[in-house]
Amino acid sequence: MNNSTLCTTRTGKPRACYSTQEQAQSAADYAESAYGNAMVPYFCNRCSYWHLCPKDRHTPSTICNHCTDGNGRPKQLYLTYESAKKRAQLRYEEDGVLLNVYECCHNRGWHLTKNDLW
Ligand SMILES: [Zn+2]
Ligand SMILES: [Zn+2]
Repeated sequence: MNNSTLCTTRTGKPRACYSTQEQAQSAADYAESAYGNAMVPYFCNRCSYWHLCPKDRHTPSTICNHCTDGNGRPKQLYLTYESAKKRAQLRYEEDGVLLNVYECCHNRGWHLTKNDLW
C-alpha cells in the first residue's frame, strides 16, 4: 500500500519518499554535493518510508520503553537536552504548542510534555 501522499512538507508539497535507508542516504549525499543542503534520512512512522530532514532541524531521539504519552503511546526520548529543547522550539514555531522539557527518570534522556511541570 502506498499512502506516501499523506506526507507533505510544511509548504504542502508531497514529501520525497525512499523505500530504503540506502536510497535516502544517497539522495541526501546528492543534495549535499549538488546544493550544499545537509540532510539526514529518517524513518517515517506515518508512511513507513524514509524521508530527508534538513540536518539543522534534526533532533536525535529514540523511543522510551517506560514512559507513555496521554494516548498511551511510547514517548520520544531525546538523547540530549539540546535536542529536546530544539524539538520543543520547532513545535512551537509550527503548531504554537508550548512544550516543557523534563528528564526521564527511567532512561538517560529527556522528554517533552504539554503539562506544566510546576
Ligand atoms: Zn512519511
Ligand atoms: Zn521516559
